[in-house]
Amino acid sequence: MVIGGGVAGPAAAMALQKAGIEPVIYEAYPTPADDVGVFLTVASNGIDALRTIGSDKDVVAAGFPTPKITLRNSGGRNLGGTNTGAKLADGTTSHTVRRSDLYRILQDEAISRGIRIERGKRLVDAQETSDGVRAVFADGTEATGDVLIGADGIDSTVRKLIDQAAPPPKYTGLINLGGYTNGVPVDTESCSYSMMFGKRAFFGYAVLPSREVWWYASLPHHDEPKRGELEAVTGLEWQRRLIGFFSEDTGPAVQLIKATRDPEDLKATPTRSVPNLPTWHSDRMVIIGDAAHAPTPTSGQGASLSIEDGVVLAKCLRDLPDSRQAFATFEELRRPRVEAIIKVANSINNNKAPGPIGRVIRDTFTPIIMKLAADSKFMMQQFDYHIDWDEAIKA
Ligand SMILES: Cc1cc2nc3c(=O)[nH]c(=O)nc-3n(C[C@H](O)[C@H](O)[C@H](O)COP(=O)(O)OP(=O)(O)OC[C@H]3O[C@@H](n4cnc5c(N)ncnc54)[C@H](O)[C@@H]3O)c2cc1C
Repeated sequence: MVIGGGVAGPAAAMALQKAGIEPVIYEAYPTPADDVGVFLTVASNGIDALRTIGSDKDVVAAGFPTPKITLRNSGGRNLGGTNTGAKLADGTTSHTVRRSDLYRILQDEAISRGIRIERGKRLVDAQETSDGVRAVFADGTEATGDVLIGADGIDSTVRKLIDQAAPPPKYTGLINLGGYTNGVPVDTESCSYSMMFGKRAFFGYAVLPSREVWWYASLPHHDEPKRGELEAVTGLEWQRRLIGFFSEDTGPAVQLIKATRDPEDLKATPTRSVPNLPTWHSDRMVIIGDAAHAPTPTSGQGASLSIEDGVVLAKCLRDLPDSRQAFATFEELRRPRVEAIIKVANSINNNKAPGPIGRVIRDTFTPIIMKLAADSKFMMQQFDYHIDWDEAIKA
């Protein structure tokens, strides 16, 4: 039983099927996801992992390549650039894709392979039995399976079922919004990202070959928003506030926000992370993706790590006879990688909204850090990660 039909869930289900295991996906929502979170990058390592299960083509076709980032300060000074990943053997690089397209494509691909997705099934409880797991859903129905995989995102229910004392996600002090704009000329080459440490907030945008611009902003918001607080603000009000946040900065942020398509649809989400949980599994239940280790959007790796998880977990369940042993090996293989990426992303978040002295320090050192980072072993390890499907997993 795979709980969650976002990114990790369908990727895990397709990999399990390839490993000869029959999965069923249970997704809480009755209809496919809307455009919350707007868009994301699937890094070259994520595309490589999708390729292992033969589901990379439609994702690549739905997005556009974004192999490069340029960083500027609020005065427009170039602070350096970096690549967002190595090229795969056929030249494919990291791609930017709408989140709703990524969900839809992965779900459709799973369904086309005969994988069952049960919608409107919100898991509320689960118990391990002598030979499997019994899952209970909010609509009162139940299901059973040999194992239960929690791919149910950052607010995971399975995480709490495995460990009642699991720490909650950490709020980073930032909220995120994004939108789409046509017809505003920008001096950034197509198929690349431009990002700006503004005086009061962080702004980034990617330019499509059509010159349409997809933009996002990270705004400081000191206390973690209460339930419903961000949703209560209208899209037009967010647009007004965003213009205020970037009015003192050089660059196209304000123009892009003013000309955004459907501004009434702007929505903000809090930026949170799950940096290091004590426990990822029990005997027959395990968590993967954001449920186990959510990085902030700064890493550009959340979706890619979730896809990798699904493939590695399927290999562990394929090769190891006992589920507890398979889950322990999965955790051992994945934990060091994902936690290192989350740590680096969290330290960058702290740079997104510093005070005046922090800004000077940041703008002085960022060019040096960017140069070092571009070729660093850490960056290479992040993007060059390859899963050899045929290599056997040993306990
Ligand atoms: C604003 C923003 C920007 C981001 N940018 C990037 C980026 O550029 N690159 C990147 O790689 N990542 C990015 N991410 C992170 C990325 O979206 C996540 O890491 C990724 O979606 C995690 O996949 P997942 O399948 O683990 O969780 P999710 O995508 O959250 O999917 C979880 C699924 O489980 C379902 N579910 C939840 N609870 C239950 C339940 N009890 N029962 C049944 N189903 C349930 C949900 O409805 C959902 O469909 C960004 C995130 C945000 C918020």
